[in-house]
Amino acid sequence: MNSPANRPKVIIIGGGFGGLAAARALKNAPVDITLIDRTNHHLFQPLLYQVATGGLSPTEISAPIRSILKDQRNVAVLMADVCSVDRAAKQVSLVNHAPIAYDFLIVATGGRHHYFGHPEWEALAPGLKTIEDANRARQRFLGAFEAAEKAETDAERKEWLTFVVVGGGPTGCELAGVLPEIARKALAGEYRRFKPSDTRIVLIENSAHVLDNFPDDLRVYATADLKHLGVEVIPLRKAADIQPDHVMLDDGTRIPCRTVFWAAGNRAGPICATLGAEQDRTGRVVVTPFLHLPDDTSVFVIGDAAHVRWLGDGTVPGVAPAARQMGECAGTNIERLLAGITHLKEFSYIDKGSMAVLGRNKAIVAAGRLHFHGVIAWLMWLFVHILYLAGYRNRLLVLLEWAYAYVTYRRGVRYLIKERID
Ligand SMILES: Cc1cc2nc3c(=O)[nH]c(=O)nc-3n(C[C@H](O)[C@H](O)[C@H](O)COP(=O)(O)OP(=O)(O)OC[C@H]3O[C@@H](n4cnc5c(N)ncnc54)[C@H](O)[C@@H]3O)c2cc1C
Repeated sequence: MNSPANRPKVIIIGGGFGGLAAARALKNAPVDITLIDRTNHHLFQPLLYQVATGGLSPTEISAPIRSILKDQRNVAVLMADVCSVDRAAKQVSLVNHAPIAYDFLIVATGGRHHYFGHPEWEALAPGLKTIEDANRARQRFLGAFEAAEKAETDAERKEWLTFVVVGGGPTGCELAGVLPEIARKALAGEYRRFKPSDTRIVLIENSAHVLDNFPDDLRVYATADLKHLGVEVIPLRKAADIQPDHVMLDDGTRIPCRTVFWAAGNRAGPICATLGAEQDRTGRVVVTPFLHLPDDTSVFVIGDAAHVRWLGDGTVPGVAPAARQMGECAGTNIERLLAGITHLKEFSYIDKGSMAVLGRNKAIVAAGRLHFHGVIAWLMWLFVHILYLAGYRNRLLVLLEWAYAYVTYRRGVRYLIKERID
């Protein structure tokens, strides 16, 4: 056993699903772990759309990383922004802090939105990755109704009441699916110069169907459910331009609107590029089946930042269970390396299924050959999301918040900061 002073140093960058799982997997290892995250909280991203639409508050879907790991004595948590990794010197550089040396490094930095060469769209069409993003989206969504009430012409009001979601994956569909209910039920009767039911919600999807990763039958249900809710689904189209008062599609169709949400593309964080390793076209680092870099067993990359082969030509999807499983595998492999075991554990993704919610009582679930939709799928979705939320307090609060919203149709978090409503 190493003495505490010269125990191997493990740095984990990122306190998301992957980073936390890696830290926990090393709980009994004779190492000193420093988990670095630029935020002080672990975020349950699957429920971010609820924060963006005023259903939940940020504190209900996040928990302080420090508090989650407080009982694990071999972990220190550092709130800092990592700007690069120097593999030759075996250290990471931080913003406003001296570099820190490692013996083993786990990169679990997730991803950011990708605007396909149009970074200028980000200001007009925010994506959903962080609490700040969700707050900004809620501000834009609720602020649009305030602006509609003040609009001087019908045309302008119509623009404020048109919401465009770009990208028909789970995030885009979840967001588009919840907007009609809010507009038509939660806000009903509150405005004098328009009916919230006049709201138009448009979902633009590049491929033939929304939710491309789901089986055909469920995609058909999902499209029908969205249409039934009042969402206009426009397949086989891309956004060619986004301006403050319209979205232009690639066939020249102009959609006048003032509020656009981006759910179309992801790219691994910029730290990945500093590793000097092969990256795929979305910036993910190509790792071995053991999750370390091909030429370096001291650097592991996991979660949304990693490109890991799966099912022939495919790659492991960017979902929370995959990130968690990779964290466990990386932790196990570091323990083996420390023990001098050269036979490392190969990562094998256990696919527990996929689910997407499409508004009240509507969801789809694919678990192997079992497919569910409608109320049963919705209840399964509720159960799983409550189960995996960090912290009992959050689980209880979210349950109460949802029960309240289910019965009353009301959203609990309606405050706006003075910004867009001027
Ligand atoms: C809106 C949305 C909905 C989703 N819905 C689902 C769902 O329903 N089911 C599902 O399974 N998955 C879902 N996902 C995907 C899932 O959340 C991700 O696959 C998962 O979070 C990836 O985990 P990770 O640990 O790789 O990264 P993350 O959980 O993104 O964590 C990365 C962490 O790294 C930190 N970080 C990044 N860069 C730096 C840096 N330079 N310095 C310091 N810290 C840094 C970040 O602050 C963050 O805490 C959703 C994602 C989003 C955005």
